[in-house]
Amino acid sequence: MDPFYYYAQYRVLICKSCQYAIQPNHIAAHLQSEQHKVSRQQSKEIAEKYKDYNLANPHIESVAPEGLIEPIGHLPIHRDGLACSTCSYVCRSLKVIKRHQREVHNIRIGRGRRPESVGWSTNVWCQCFFISVGQRYFKVQQTNQQLIQQATDTTTRLLQLVYRQLDQKEKAIEEKRQIIKDSDDLTEVSSWLDRTQWIRHLEGQDKATIVKLVNPARDEEMELQHVEKSLKRLVEKARQTILQKKINTFTLHRIQNFHAGEDSHKPFHVNLGADTIERYQRVWSKLLIYVLRTAESETRLYRLTEDQ
Ligand SMILES: [Zn+2]
Ligand SMILES: [Zn+2]
Repeated sequence: MDPFYYYAQYRVLICKSCQYAIQPNHIAAHLQSEQHKVSRQQSKEIAEKYKDYNLANPHIESVAPEGLIEPIGHLPIHRDGLACSTCSYVCRSLKVIKRHQREVHNIRIGRGRRPESVGWSTNVWCQCFFISVGQRYFKVQQTNQQLIQQATDTTTRLLQLVYRQLDQKEKAIEEKRQIIKDSDDLTEVSSWLDRTQWIRHLEGQDKATIVKLVNPARDEEMELQHVEKSLKRLVEKARQTILQKKINTFTLHRIQNFHAGEDSHKPFHVNLGADTIERYQRVWSKLLIYVLRTAESETRLYRLTEDQ
């Protein structure tokens, strides 16, 4: 059975079990996370099948329907959307809609303004195709319009209660799924994550599988053990070299700055507690081991160069 549903009109593949669209170059990798129960071979075959579909790439194009459409069957409906009254922008966070109004329409919301005078409507029904890169909510028709018109106050209240419960349930499922996904709010993403593109790399991967990949080297992984030991030796040697004043202070000012070619006002210092050094080292060790373990994997997310 095909795990995807293809929407030709939008050129997207929606994963039936995950209920979101998959990036064109992530198909095989996506299917290999545990919950899909698809073998490596099968996932390759499925990816192969969609190879020539010219699927939309959220990295380079914005994917959303034009105009108000009926909800798309394979995507969850969110009923807590905030829709800008000036343009077609929709999101689900108060902070984000305020920033949109400020940055796009130059509207500032002062304190004490009455809520009905704000430039957006609430409880808008919305959906989105992609959940991290290229996540863009779009408004969809409320399918309960007729019901509401005929309904008495009690039924409306009941209906709202049901929706609220549905929304809560959906939120719980989202959390349980434990899929690594990007934050809704750009300000929450650290500049380190942004620069290293970890989110783009890890998107849609299963957390439990990834965690196993950063575990320390096992007994039989001789090469990785060597890497761990070398890293330790290198850090200690560098520390000793600085402590023995073999590096001049100008160089230390340069090292401390994160931007190339600029000096920091403080020198780089290595008089850290042993546990701090151990902690930094552990992070680097994990990163290195992760890269070495995944470089040769089937998913081929990237490849090392000859020298590396
Ligand atoms: Zn999936
Ligand atoms: Zn707007």
